Amino acid sequence: MDVQSNEAFSKLSIEIARLHSNPQPPTVLPLATAIDHARSKLHSQLSNTGIGVEQTIKHIQEELAPAFNASSRSPNYYGFVTGGVTPAAALADNIVTYYDQNVQVHLPNETIATEVEDRALSLLCELLEFEPTQWPHRTFTTGATASNVLGLACGREYIITEASAHRTDAENSVGEVGIVEAMRKAGIDEIQILTTVPHSSLSKAASILGLGRASVKCIGQDGVSHKFDMQLLRKLLEQPGAASIVAVSASEVNTGLFATSGLAEMQEIRKLCDMYGAWIHVDGAFGILGRLLADPKYEKIMRACAGLDLADSITGDGHKLLNVPYDCGFFLSRHRNIAERVFQNPNAAYLASGDDSDAIMSPLNIGLENSRRFRALPVYASLVSYGKAGYRDMLERQIVLSQGIARFIIESDDYELLPESEETTDEIVRGIYIIVLFRAKDKELNEQLINKIKATKTIYVSGTSWGGKPACRFAVSNWQTDIHRDLPIIEKVLQEVAGETKIRK
Ligand SMILES: *Cc1c(COP(=O)(O)O)cnc(C)c1O
Repeated sequence: MDVQSNEAFSKLSIEIARLHSNPQPPTVLPLATAIDHARSKLHSQLSNTGIGVEQTIKHIQEELAPAFNASSRSPNYYGFVTGGVTPAAALADNIVTYYDQNVQVHLPNETIATEVEDRALSLLCELLEFEPTQWPHRTFTTGATASNVLGLACGREYIITEASAHRTDAENSVGEVGIVEAMRKAGIDEIQILTTVPHSSLSKAASILGLGRASVKCIGQDGVSHKFDMQLLRKLLEQPGAASIVAVSASEVNTGLFATSGLAEMQEIRKLCDMYGAWIHVDGAFGILGRLLADPKYEKIMRACAGLDLADSITGDGHKLLNVPYDCGFFLSRHRNIAERVFQNPNAAYLASGDDSDAIMSPLNIGLENSRRFRALPVYASLVSYGKAGYRDMLERQIVLSQGIARFIIESDDYELLPESEETTDEIVRGIYIIVLFRAKDKELNEQLINKIKATKTIYVSGTSWGGKPACRFAVSNWQTDIHRDLPIIEKVLQEVAGETKIRK
């Protein structure tokens, strides 16, 4: 790198670090007018000569940026599980762009990049209490959707092989002969994905992989839809002619609830799946971070995360609770041989890695992409910089705030916490992770609730529907979360919004 660009880069890095360390939450949330203005300034045609770098940066910073939303920057953003960006991750992300490494083929004599990626993944395993050697197929993806595609693809390969095992000694691989032929050879006429309260991306993954959205079957208990109906699970698993993937939702986006509530439940699911050659995939996009917790205060969540290591594959998101920039997700699987059968990039001599005996697998042979961004570096930087206790502290602050919001809602006259529960207040609050679902008791207020909260321009929440009626949702996921600063702001907004309608009546 030349001296000038090096200097410019250092300056930029310092500025970025300053921006990200600024503890002041921006209070101005995106205005419709800023968006209208930005829209009017968008270049409508490609100019012949271009406007130059300086003018372009000015255009972005002054005309477009005011119309970006505050999701990653502001701890007052509770709309979706977006996460923020730690300063370490922000800086590393800029370095990624600067050095523009392609983390595709493992070439240990040419770049350390693949080793950094692998090390970041094994540090991540340590963070989440997974023994790294048990998860030899591990990779960074673009996000949890991509990780779910990987999980179902590996599951599809595995369950068909299992179903074929008693018929033939020859390898029957979907990757090789395609799904129709592989199913015919295995004597299977149905592949089903058995789950509860799945994220929409699971159906999307099923569609992409030729399994079909209709193959996703929700088998939750009556009235407790996030928990498996174990009898139904067994009945569907033992169906002749069917092969199954069991997808465990480890914290669901609407309620934050986990599909299992203890080690024994995961052990039972594992036993059934082993009996019927099924694959267990855990979608723990943000729930998997719950494995960090160690304080008995969080025992209910810790129990919900116990035994998730009995899965065959696991989805996690980086851009959510790890608080690294978009786009980053991760995928872990116990089955290295399945990885190669599904993702092997065949017959590309120019992409061969040098050293076969090396344990690190070339990323292009174990995931979707060929050329890949060095998205491991922000994760590596953030893990190294905060350590296990730092990440645990971040998560605890998020949970404590969520539980504080939940308690306020339960105790308020104007709002009710969802889903309705027979448990005591303390018991309910202990089960709150980072999502708080609620509604206003007053029907009229409830219809307007989201808009009224957004109109305060103080906090941002998202709307959803629960039991056929509108509901509102807090998702707490920012590394800067601070209950002492944030809870009073939230309480004030909720009180004001409710008080306003009372006065009007
Ligand atoms: C967010 C989320 C996804 C999708 O993640 P992306 O990173 O947006 O692709 C999948 N599953 C769960 C449980 C999620 O919360």
